[in-house]
Amino acid sequence: MVITHVAVALAFAVPVALVAPEFATAAAVGATVGGVFPDLDLLVGEHRRTLHFPVVGPLLAVPAVILAFLVPTAATVALALALVGFGVHSASDVLGAGEELRPWERTNTDAVYDHVAGRWWQARYVIPYDGSPKDLLLAVAASLPVLLVYEGPVRWGLAAALGVALVYAALRRRLVPYFERIL
Ligand SMILES: [Zn+2]
Repeated sequence: MVITHVAVALAFAVPVALVAPEFATAAAVGATVGGVFPDLDLLVGEHRRTLHFPVVGPLLAVPAVILAFLVPTAATVALALALVGFGVHSASDVLGAGEELRPWERTNTDAVYDHVAGRWWQARYVIPYDGSPKDLLLAVAASLPVLLVYEGPVRWGLAAALGVALVYAALRRRLVPYFERIL
């Protein structure tokens, strides 16, 4: 789920906050934007395809991270973490389920679209589906270092997001009829 992606992206901001606290906020903002961004294709285009780049995304993150090391400013650090969050989100969607409303039924194994090869990567089900107990566990595990290192809005914002994740995970299967109505 998107909250897990944000938590994982924020975990990458933790070393920045520890080593260069002056860039902690820039790193957190970049990570949050990058972690959320791919799933905006739920709203426009085709989900897990239009804004998901599992090959190009991680590749773009490499020069951005190098640039942030060479020229450390709030902007370059935010950009680096945004592209790390974007790339990790796109690529790690393959570890979840396919794109379907009842992913526990496993009728569609298309996990994320690889624009380079021109085909869908098949779901690995390491995280059985979004909002599954394992998904929630991963969100909590990734959040722990963030909650420990960050204070203020990042800590409380993430804690609030985890609250939402908990409710989502508890209701995930019962939410399907509402999703169907929206779609
Ligand atoms: Zn996604």
